[in-house]
Amino acid sequence: MQNDFDVLVIGAGPNGLCCGSYLARAGAKVAVVEKNVESGGGLMTQELSGFKLNSHAIYMLLGDLMPPYHDLELKSRGVTFITPEVQAAFLYDDDSLILYADQEKSKESVARLSPNDADSFASLSQDFKKACDEFIIPATYYPPVDPLEQIELLDQSSDVGRWLNELAEMTPREVIGAYDFDDERIEGALLYLASMFGLDPDGGGMGFLTPIYVHRLMQSSIVKGGSHQLASSLRRTLESYGGEVITDANVAEITVESGRAVGLRLHDGRVFRSKAVVSTLNPEQNFKELIDGNALSSTIKEATDAWEWDETSLYVVNWGVVGEAPRYEGRPEDVDLALNVVMGISSPGDVIDHFDHAKSGQIPDGATGHASCPSLFDPLSSARHLGEYGNCEVLRWECMAPFDADWSNHKSSVARNAFSKWSEYAPNLRDANIRIELAWSPNDIWTHLPTMKHGGIKHGAYQSIQMGYNRPNSECSSYSTPIEGFYVAGASTHPGGMVILGPGYNAARVVAKDLGLDIWWELPEMVSRAIKAGYLPPDQD
Ligand SMILES: Cc1cc2nc3c(=O)[nH]c(=O)nc-3n(C[C@H](O)[C@H](O)[C@H](O)COP(=O)(O)OP(=O)(O)OC[C@H]3O[C@@H](n4cnc5c(N)ncnc54)[C@H](O)[C@@H]3O)c2cc1C
Repeated sequence: MQNDFDVLVIGAGPNGLCCGSYLARAGAKVAVVEKNVESGGGLMTQELSGFKLNSHAIYMLLGDLMPPYHDLELKSRGVTFITPEVQAAFLYDDDSLILYADQEKSKESVARLSPNDADSFASLSQDFKKACDEFIIPATYYPPVDPLEQIELLDQSSDVGRWLNELAEMTPREVIGAYDFDDERIEGALLYLASMFGLDPDGGGMGFLTPIYVHRLMQSSIVKGGSHQLASSLRRTLESYGGEVITDANVAEITVESGRAVGLRLHDGRVFRSKAVVSTLNPEQNFKELIDGNALSSTIKEATDAWEWDETSLYVVNWGVVGEAPRYEGRPEDVDLALNVVMGISSPGDVIDHFDHAKSGQIPDGATGHASCPSLFDPLSSARHLGEYGNCEVLRWECMAPFDADWSNHKSSVARNAFSKWSEYAPNLRDANIRIELAWSPNDIWTHLPTMKHGGIKHGAYQSIQMGYNRPNSECSSYSTPIEGFYVAGASTHPGGMVILGPGYNAARVVAKDLGLDIWWELPEMVSRAIKAGYLPPDQD
């Protein structure tokens, strides 16, 4: 094997594969080095007895809005996003709230439940959409801006900008609470959407992320054929431009010589040299485990020591069943067609309790969480070859969960309880014949992906001091670092976690510029618009 590269990228998760693909197409000789036997990181689909089970990420918030989807021609490379019309249904004792991709239809559902709240819901939907379209999504694909400069830009830009500055002083609960809903079921539903990926409902200064979670979780999609299709398409893109992915390659050291990153050493002794090293790992891995402390500034060391991990993780269980898709008895038909069906949430207090239980280390009771039947939208994920036994479906149940808990004794019982609670709402599930059950606790997540310490799906908590310009610290948040030739590009950099490809995309531009490569891709139109509107500073290039 030829061991000299222009760029070595550590981690073949969504960000590593995205960054590597841009650089390979720019002409660099790229290798993405991955600890696991398969690439994908959080984009994992396991095929068991013909059922395709997404063990980690499944809901894509930005889908075809992600610039790499177009730049890297991912559609023609096999990525299809499926966006169900019915996005979420919240089940109450005698009622349901149904949220659609079409805001007008959601408003009608809100009006049926609480006529007084329909207008507040419409205002919230419009405000959140506008904030996402004009600033939050464009800023995802642009390097973070110094906080004071960003505040000033937003302040001078428009009412939306000034409102976003206000949100940055609020908690997600306060942002939703400001719409004064009469019916706490509606407020609870919106707060659940805001926090179902671990955004603390009471997180001070984190209100500015509320619009993207709430708005985009009413527009979310799944990847046809399973989430891993996105990873394998990115990998194919990388390879088509001459790059390679080296799997089963656990990095033990980022080699720094005379203040410059020059390559990697693996645990199995292999050594690779390169002009640049891009890491998508977390700050503790980068700055405590892999780089010799003598090469680091005290600012980086202190910021790494102070790095806070998520207080909660997720518990996910997938089942492959011979049986019918869930039918929710006594509910409107559209509930049967919802991508996500949420149980156990009737008020903001329920969301806080669910979060607090996870924070305090309590094993989930299986009564609160969201359930999905992905095969309803993507027949490719069910085990067709079992067709001779009858209809097959994939079922998934997910909830907030603690890391620090006795999972070895409770992993299966949570799955059992969740299935039984789900069956109370959808009694036909009692007839399902479970062929496969695959449960992942927070411990399992960390074991599989060392980037996700304590099962933290974003490589580090979302707190105002760990976002944007300070993610992962003020010296490295622009993707380059004080160590020449060393770059960071994973979920612990701006804009953070989730499969949005922002970190890998933004970092690619910085690396390409430093290496003098051809930056072949255009600034996304939405970013140009945000610059023109004064939300973001002009492009330095
Ligand atoms: C259970 C679960 C559910 C989720 N659900 C969603 C969802 O529905 N929607 C969504 O958008 N996001 C979801 N996420 C979050 C999303 O998966 C992550 O935020 C995203 O994968 C981060 O991408 P990344 O490329 O930065 O890092 P990762 O995906 O963590 O990839 C990093 C890669 O680095 C590799 N690595 C680690 N250490 C080393 C080493 N020493 N040497 C070499 N390689 C190494 C890892 O094996 C991994 O492949 C979920 C995550 C989990 C765990």
